[in-house]
Amino acid sequence: MDVRLITQLLAKRGRLRAQERMARRELEDYRAQALGILRDFAYAHSSFYREFHRGLYAAPLEELPVLTKATLMAHFDDLVTDRAVRLEDVKAYAADRRGNGLFLGRYQVYATSGTSGRPGLFLVNRDEWSTMLAAALRSFEGAGIRLKLTRRLKMAQITSANSSHMSAQGGRSMGNWWMPVLLLSASEPVATIVGRLNAWQPEALLAYASIIRVLADEQSAGRLAIAPRTIISGSEVLTRETRRRAVEAWGDVLFNMHGTTECGGIGAECDRHRGMHLQEDLVIVEVVDRHNRPVPVGESGEKLLVTVLASRTQPLIRYEVDDSLRLAPDPCPCGRAFSLIDEIQGRVHEILSFPGPAGEGINVHPIVFHNLMDTLSVSGWQIVQDADRLHVLLTGVPASFNEDSLADAIGRALAGQGAVVPRVNIEHVPAIPQNESGKTPLVKSNLPRSPE
Ligand SMILES: [Zn+2]
Repeated sequence: MDVRLITQLLAKRGRLRAQERMARRELEDYRAQALGILRDFAYAHSSFYREFHRGLYAAPLEELPVLTKATLMAHFDDLVTDRAVRLEDVKAYAADRRGNGLFLGRYQVYATSGTSGRPGLFLVNRDEWSTMLAAALRSFEGAGIRLKLTRRLKMAQITSANSSHMSAQGGRSMGNWWMPVLLLSASEPVATIVGRLNAWQPEALLAYASIIRVLADEQSAGRLAIAPRTIISGSEVLTRETRRRAVEAWGDVLFNMHGTTECGGIGAECDRHRGMHLQEDLVIVEVVDRHNRPVPVGESGEKLLVTVLASRTQPLIRYEVDDSLRLAPDPCPCGRAFSLIDEIQGRVHEILSFPGPAGEGINVHPIVFHNLMDTLSVSGWQIVQDADRLHVLLTGVPASFNEDSLADAIGRALAGQGAVVPRVNIEHVPAIPQNESGKTPLVKSNLPRSPE
């Protein structure tokens, strides 16, 4: 148990609680001030940012250049603000991690899973890490999990067991303290997960959306018998149907959360279930189109530009994240000033491109498949695009299932988007294959990504 970290965390949790009650105007002032401090720090300690923002030191945030992962990795040593940190050493540390030692004795290191291209490496010091954990605690509190030192809460976390992923590190930091955490890997067989959960009887469950859907079906079938007070879905798109099944299995206890490895938690649902509150006191999120132009509130963007206000070791200013989401025009009735994310459509790399009649590329948004596939009476699904066909993987398919009508419906949906309909292969599989972090994207392409 790390007493210093916990002390810091408790102090920050209190501060974040107070920030959550800020009025909109107060929040705007706070953000402007925090951004100024971040930029001053970056210009003082990062030779990369001094160059990258040259001539723009006083310019508004929206006029600063966008930081891509490729740029960040290419200028890593100059971008970080501690001269002792070198990419080569961080890489070696991340590749050969033994025990829980910190990098250079002071940095938590985590890697992006690399599903959206080349992997990235990120490091945070104790202060930054405690802010991220405090933000996670605040999100849990919004979901009704009030942690008390006097009462231990049993939690189960089914995510990635890979120690370089942030969710696993978070689970470890929190575990064995006031919150005993059962850590399960999403890649274990369902029967194993069900058995461990039945034995553990978690009061709170944190898992990827695809796992929650499978477990909801297990609960409804009577094999799983747990009664969590809160279920938190993170990291994957939570579809309407998955939510419906979870509510049917456990009642109204499901809360969606959204985060990215680079920036930590971005959104968390409150008990009004109206969407996820953007953590606007911690991050400035710009919803933009593919050309980095701002998208009006109420419309979906193609990516986000994220500025992490507390980032110091590796300042992130207008960092590009390929996440498509939409902000709600109206505030939440709960009274928090933080904007609501009312729809999240997944990663941009889930947008499939099909040839049109004239050979032009027709982009089909994952939501087209979500709407079509979500209500099927199957336990899981995935759409995989190959060069010559579209594979539709299904698990838990009932005997009465009509494959032809599904293939027809997919063809009609694609034709409706203006695409030339490809061959559709419906395949029954025992399990949807997971990527290296144990996630199962609903839509993916095996074709090389076209450069933007
Ligand atoms: Zn709310």
